[in-house]
Amino acid sequence: MTSPKYPQLSAASPPRRLKALLIVGAVAGLAMLFIFLSAGKGSQPKELPASPEAAEAAAPSAEDAPEVEPNSPLRRLHVVLNGPLESAIISASDSQVGPALTQVLVRALVWWVDIPRHLMRGDELWVVYEVRENADPLVYAVRFASKRTGKTHEAFWFHAKEERYARFYLPEGTELELRLVDGPLEDWEQITSLLNDGRGHQGVDYKVPSGTPVKSPFDGMVVRKNWNFRSNGYSLEILETGGRRRCLFLHLEELPSSMRPGQAVKKGQVVAHSGNSGRSFAPHLHYQLMDESNRVLNPLKEHKTFQRQLKGDNLAAFETEREHLQKLLEGAP
Ligand SMILES: [Zn+2]
Repeated sequence: MTSPKYPQLSAASPPRRLKALLIVGAVAGLAMLFIFLSAGKGSQPKELPASPEAAEAAAPSAEDAPEVEPNSPLRRLHVVLNGPLESAIISASDSQVGPALTQVLVRALVWWVDIPRHLMRGDELWVVYEVRENADPLVYAVRFASKRTGKTHEAFWFHAKEERYARFYLPEGTELELRLVDGPLEDWEQITSLLNDGRGHQGVDYKVPSGTPVKSPFDGMVVRKNWNFRSNGYSLEILETGGRRRCLFLHLEELPSSMRPGQAVKKGQVVAHSGNSGRSFAPHLHYQLMDESNRVLNPLKEHKTFQRQLKGDNLAAFETEREHLQKLLEGAP
């Protein structure tokens, strides 16, 4: 059984894949383009002008056939951890893809364990992913058997209808990422850094387009703006009414002059817009909370949190994709 959305999994090593891709590039390109264009429309395989079968028929030799599905952009890896995560990922993929793939995977794993503190020898990781030009690898599915939690965790990449962004969902159709009650953003593409991801990071990084409205998480007063400009860029610090906590927003778009120290703000008020200023390599919002003694607080613990759940048609579509991806994780061709 094949799904129109996910071509069959390739088990080929990268060099053989590349060679095969060159030879059948045109056919595969057409097939992939069509799959891309028809994604989400529930097209039938028989309607494909350049079907996976056609691409396979154009493959260079029969002896490659069991290993090479040259039309497939998908790759699978399985590793048992016996050292650093990135080394394991590189040895199971390659040195070009491995580091970026590790970063993307950590964005999922960090919701289950602290990285790298809770990674343990013998932990197992299965991944279905796609390598992309000029973009991070796309992880379609990840399964993580953790010695620390004693559980096998899974997440699947899915683009729900009427949602702006694709994101990771747990097997039952719940979003992987936690959302903050009274948080600074209505929506975002992905959380790219948390306090427990091993980077010594002091806030939560939200990947969002520049110009996204940023709201104050509490009633308070502006105490600083644009300090340490070279690294923080346009930035804003708000002291909570009562004086217990402060929130910091970094890498903003230029702030209006009305937003100055002493300015009172209300919870939920738009106080800034996200940007890409200072030491920032892609548009994102850095959101940080601190207490009166300058200790960094975890926004996921300070805020109430919730997870959204897919419903109706979205849930049904997700379940179909999840089942397909689960078979790919298990190594089904
Ligand atoms: Zn940050």
